[in-house]
Amino acid sequence: MKSPLGPLKKVYSLTEAGEKILKIKVNKNFSDQIRFIENFLIELSLIYIQSFPEDEERKKQCRWVQNLLRNMLENIIIRLNSKDKIDKWPERNCPGCNATIYRHDATFCPLCGTELIKLPI
Ligand SMILES: [Zn+2]
Repeated sequence: MKSPLGPLKKVYSLTEAGEKILKIKVNKNFSDQIRFIENFLIELSLIYIQSFPEDEERKKQCRWVQNLLRNMLENIIIRLNSKDKIDKWPERNCPGCNATIYRHDATFCPLCGTELIKLPI
């Protein structure tokens, strides 16, 4: 007598294998996409910096872009790490440079250094 569990078990293991393949694909795709964005940001930033003809201005813009990217990465890390939903936090903009400030406890703008008003908890 054939066990009725036989074919069912086979289907189950096939699904599991399929899921594994899918996971590998998604994971590979994810790191490829992150690398793509990294390269894109480098290209875009270099085009922006090199659009300034003066050497001094180029250096100044380079520092500004570096701070901008540092701020962006910090924001991403904070938002991924946050236990609470970050969208519950009141987002605000720097009165000096209009950058979005995600850190609830920030007292200075990480981009331009403008002092920020302390938010009530
Ligand atoms: Zn600012």
